[in-house]
Amino acid sequence: MRVLFLSSEIYPFAKTGGLADVSASLPKALSEIGVHVKSVMPLYRTVDLEKFGIVPTGKKVSVSVGAGNFDFEVYKVSNSVSHYFLKNDHLFGRDYLYGTPEGDYPDNDVRFGTFCWAVVKLIEEGFFKPDVVHANDWQTALTPVLISKKGLKVKTLQTIHNLAYQGIFPKEAVERLSLGWELFNMEALEFWGKVNFLKGGIIFSDAVNTVSPTYAREITTPEFGYGLDGVLKKYSYKLFGILNGIDYDVWNPETDPYIYVNYSENTVSRKEENKRLFLKETGLSGEEKPLFIFIGRFAKQKGIDLIMESMEELPSLPANFAILGTGDTGYNSFFNSIKGKYPNIFVEVAYDEPLSRKMYASADYLLMPSLYEPCGLNQMIAMRYGTLVVARKTGGLADTVRDVDKPGGYGFLFEEFSPEAFLKAVKKAVDFYYNSRSRFARLRQFVMGIDFSWNNSALKYMRLYENLIEGKVK
Ligand code: ADP
Repeated sequence: MRVLFLSSEIYPFAKTGGLADVSASLPKALSEIGVHVKSVMPLYRTVDLEKFGIVPTGKKVSVSVGAGNFDFEVYKVSNSVSHYFLKNDHLFGRDYLYGTPEGDYPDNDVRFGTFCWAVVKLIEEGFFKPDVVHANDWQTALTPVLISKKGLKVKTLQTIHNLAYQGIFPKEAVERLSLGWELFNMEALEFWGKVNFLKGGIIFSDAVNTVSPTYAREITTPEFGYGLDGVLKKYSYKLFGILNGIDYDVWNPETDPYIYVNYSENTVSRKEENKRLFLKETGLSGEEKPLFIFIGRFAKQKGIDLIMESMEELPSLPANFAILGTGDTGYNSFFNSIKGKYPNIFVEVAYDEPLSRKMYASADYLLMPSLYEPCGLNQMIAMRYGTLVVARKTGGLADTVRDVDKPGGYGFLFEEFSPEAFLKAVKKAVDFYYNSRSRFARLRQFVMGIDFSWNNSALKYMRLYENLIEGKVK
């Protein structure tokens, strides 16, 4: 079985969020169970060719659309048949993946649209010979549309990693990308007078999935559907939820080179040593107090507002807090403004993977008060590092965290999106830390043993590909 996996970001070549992690770890897990996967992404200027041994294959492909002629050169990792890159410096030789801090690039329709055209041409020319094309998010969502339009004998799967990002462009994109006006109708790409890439991916692919079972149900409702709930409901016969996993080689406290002291399930108490050194490094004090961390994009989705609105209360709790993130300018300036203001709150406005690893290893609790969460990787990484999770019960968080008040529970869930409900859960976790010591110790060992690897989910993807090939979905 041959799968062509398309993504706009793949770790470690380029990453802005969880999509990159999944786009690396899922193909890897699939390869391990015998699926032949090739992944393709744009070659951004920020990708380090030398470091990763990325070289030209000699293959070139030209795309001619309304916006102009675009030549792509196919690159690959030299010692691998798995990682391919499409190079066009005019489109992708830039400092950012999607846009500057001031806003998205205005030609993202052409950038990612022509990428899809180029992939389809490479299939037509026999350079890639997939049974299934697996598109991820809006950036690659025109591929199923073009494959269907051309009637190619290739099955397509569209994965939605975050429905809030759909790739919506002015209707001129129809001509800029030579899509044909017949696609500009409500049953295809048209969306309130504009062009919606992801809508096309949903309608024209043979199957659609999102990254957790709960989110798959949620996105068919107006609250989570971002205007596509009706479309998703209509196509629910081909809509699935498959929980993401994390790469256990990448996220492993036994071997992580960035953390202070390595540890395993049997030596989980060494987290204390990590905590001691982390507090020292960040100027916090009180090893005996629980350490709460937040790691993530500063975006409304992540529930940052609940943390901001709790800023009066958090300093008075017998606990330490460490917050690492970056994102929307309003949030960035708020967190920059409280840097060093409270003795028990450490703030770093940055994207810093080594620091994030130290935090996962040192923390007692991870805060994840998300407004919505398609899957979420942070909570799985945290548990792998023996850190208990305080989260809002939504999407993938509801599928991976079970409340301590339930039999077999191992985390702290709250439902209402309010600072009161959030603080109540935080205080409950503080109280649990001081008053249920032995249960706390047991749970932290327990969460390290939960299987958040790709084992189960990679099999589910493989079965889905099989069903697509056998024509069992549509
Ligand atoms: P997203 O919605 O951003 O994709 P996920 O939970 O799926 O959220 O994935 C987030 C990934 O990005 C995790 O690997 C997390 O550790 C990492 N991450 C997010 N923000 C930061 C940051 N400021 N510094 C380091 N790593 C971060």
